[in-house]
Amino acid sequence: MQRPSLAASLARHAALASTLLASALCGCRGDDEGAPEAPVAAPRPRHVVWIVLDTLRADALGCYGNARATSPVLDELAARGVLVEDAFAHAPWTRPSAASMLSSLHPPEHGIRSEDPRDILPEAVLTLAEHFRAHAFRTAAISENPHVQQATGFGQGFELFLGKPLWQSEPAWMLEQARAVLGAVRESKEPLFLYVHALDPHDPYEPSEEDRRAILGALRSGDADVDAGRALRRTERLLAGEALSSEDLQVLRGLYEAEVRGADRFVGELLELVREHGLLEDALVLVTSDHGEEFLEHGALRHGDQLYDESLRVPLLFSGPGLAPRRVRAALARHVDLAPTVLELLDLPQPEGWRGRSLAPALRGATQQPAALYAETRWRELGRAALRGERWKLLQDERTGERALFDLSSDPGETRDRAAAELVRTEELARDLELLQRAFRSAGSGDPSSAPEYDRATWEALQKLGYTGAPEPLSKQR
Ligand SMILES: [Zn+2]
Repeated sequence: MQRPSLAASLARHAALASTLLASALCGCRGDDEGAPEAPVAAPRPRHVVWIVLDTLRADALGCYGNARATSPVLDELAARGVLVEDAFAHAPWTRPSAASMLSSLHPPEHGIRSEDPRDILPEAVLTLAEHFRAHAFRTAAISENPHVQQATGFGQGFELFLGKPLWQSEPAWMLEQARAVLGAVRESKEPLFLYVHALDPHDPYEPSEEDRRAILGALRSGDADVDAGRALRRTERLLAGEALSSEDLQVLRGLYEAEVRGADRFVGELLELVREHGLLEDALVLVTSDHGEEFLEHGALRHGDQLYDESLRVPLLFSGPGLAPRRVRAALARHVDLAPTVLELLDLPQPEGWRGRSLAPALRGATQQPAALYAETRWRELGRAALRGERWKLLQDERTGERALFDLSSDPGETRDRAAAELVRTEELARDLELLQRAFRSAGSGDPSSAPEYDRATWEALQKLGYTGAPEPLSKQR
């Protein structure tokens, strides 16, 4: 491993951090504009614990309506904090999706689009971790997803990047790393940004015996058929072209949800560690996923190929000082919105060039301007794009030119293509998509030497369409 020892890194970075400017951390900018009568400023979080559970569909969690006992920890977190009903990823697989979360840029803007090993996060991109570093935060990442590693450019801004790129979930390893990071930060008393990317419930679905029985025991009498290995062999047969019975599918879904139960327990253990180190009370905890998972809703399993909602809709929970418990709709919360939201909740300035808008007004119960989601997948040589508003969703295959339009208000499962019946609307959305893609190209996206930049007219057009929410036209970060 090229990784320096944790102790050596922590010592080295303690020295570095002490030379950083301390700034805007004390929340001295005064009360929210909307609440001038408030006698004291609302409490603000000091630390951020950002947890990504890979491949987690929102509807796999109890707090999003799942009837099984998959998520006692996250349900409690949701009850204490804010649950966002309508949150979406920009891509149905990890690398572009995580990059959008941490850079507030769309995949064509940050440049990670395909599985090409050269598609890594360019140095010119300003990440949330870099922004936190510039504001005197300690920054650490713990990731067991091979797509989110230093080698793929995700180390930017993290003093410590603790990666284990083995496609194998090891909660005990992650907790051990977290304990070391939290111990160092407790001593330094500095604010912390901790990003934790856990691999489960990503396939293969191999839940613990306890989790398997807890979820599938309720589904089936007897347990001969809920053996994980058998179900996975069934999956492989299906991927090889064989049919999967509805019973097989139910078992497969059960195994996935049993893994969700394990991932939920991991979150509980991680937050308990944060609490033991005295940081939880002042921490903003954010939990989300990088994408969803398919169970034959549109003919496929797993994720990556398609842009239907089962691949893009993710859970989004916030909990921390100043956030009253509520469930909100944000008129689309997108991954590009997460970093701006976290900064506003901490009362830190927004950098130029990010594309998302802060969801803080929605989290506090206000109605927010609707935004539109751009999503794409280009892995395995695919070229698919989607535009999604609250009601209408356009899917376009860039290779074949095929389009489909769905009215999500009457057809949330995206089963009835309305493109022929709604020709004018389809054309309008296709023009929006073309405008957006032209803008991505004009901004020189993917060029690792410069951050993407739009001219003012393009910027305003995009803003009007709801694809970008940052307040000002862009300028280069550095
Ligand atoms: Zn993933």
